[in-house]
Amino acid sequence: MSGSHAAARVYRLRKLSEVPIDFQRRGLVQVLLLWFDEHGRDLPWRRTRNAYAIWVSEIMLQQTQVQTVIGYWERWMREFPETKSLAKAPEERVLKLWEGLGYYSRARNLWRAAQQLVAVRGSLLPSTVEELMELPGIGRYTAGAIASIAYNQPAAILDGNVIRVLSRLMSMAGDPKGAENQKRLWAEARLWVEAATAEQLGVTQNRYGDINQSLMELGATLCTPTKPRCSDCPIASGCRAFHLGTPETFPQLAARPATQRRWFATALIRCQGRVLVSRRPQDVVNGGYWEFPNCELDSADADPAQAIGVFLGIDSARFQQCGEIRHSITRFRILQRLVGTEVASCGRLRQCLPGGKWVTLAELESLHLTGPHRKLARRLWRNG
Ligand code: SF4
Repeated sequence: MSGSHAAARVYRLRKLSEVPIDFQRRGLVQVLLLWFDEHGRDLPWRRTRNAYAIWVSEIMLQQTQVQTVIGYWERWMREFPETKSLAKAPEERVLKLWEGLGYYSRARNLWRAAQQLVAVRGSLLPSTVEELMELPGIGRYTAGAIASIAYNQPAAILDGNVIRVLSRLMSMAGDPKGAENQKRLWAEARLWVEAATAEQLGVTQNRYGDINQSLMELGATLCTPTKPRCSDCPIASGCRAFHLGTPETFPQLAARPATQRRWFATALIRCQGRVLVSRRPQDVVNGGYWEFPNCELDSADADPAQAIGVFLGIDSARFQQCGEIRHSITRFRILQRLVGTEVASCGRLRQCLPGGKWVTLAELESLHLTGPHRKLARRLWRNG
């Protein structure tokens, strides 16, 4: 049996009610770190303490799965290995590298923050939560993650995984996003970090970043939203939800807003071997990305050819329906209904569409498109 497992087993022999809460937390911190040392996943951004590399990973990991992020992070770090190279990159290139990751304001905020850093701090990321939070796109969670992981500062973090773990450990009643519960959770997260000192652990270095990563890792791998693997959990002895036999009932999240359906008509218009696209304004969702001309429909039954014809000022009889694409963004379930046509003259249509231009299929490949429109572009490629 490995050292960490032995420690976990010994600790499990204690009865929760017999152990004073602070002592309990100290023991749990120790066991959780042993578990993390042995079972933590080998992720590329865990092989460095470079603050910029950790910052990029934390921003990419918001709302996105680890497996998806790995390739994006590696490509990004190859092209923009430090703040300076990101700051001087053209916006188009930054958005292109982010293409397909979604929540595109994250890319623009990273880029703006890099420019701010180069302009005022000689490109170095600050090490305190307060200073980090002055940068675009960095909130309390991300600031805590950078400060603790890159600079080993005693800064707490609270993301979805940590909220789930702590809510279960505390068997916390009520919505964890409520103001009072948020205070309790941040306070508890701080106590976990503060218990990871070199002195308490009997090691040579504080392990503030590691304890934060251990809590996140536990939430991502064992303490999952459904079917948590409590029998493998190193800190089950200190978990109130486990002792109650109801771990899945925590956290007690408020009901999510109901999903909402939306429908769009999207037009694939060709002219002399080129296709019409337009650029979204900067100040809207997915601002700055390219897309095929589209307009929202009132209902599932609305005629997409009719709607796009009115939108572009073209006779709707010229359009043929050519398929559908479904995708989801947050609570929205979106159906894009596709219509296509070929026109003889390119000039007038481009003028009807603000920010519009005609591009060849090769040029389309080099533009940055949002995920669903990239799917459409691939369909165009396949069909020639
Ligand atoms: S015992 Fe189960 S519910 Fe409690 S922290 Fe571990 S995995 Fe989560």
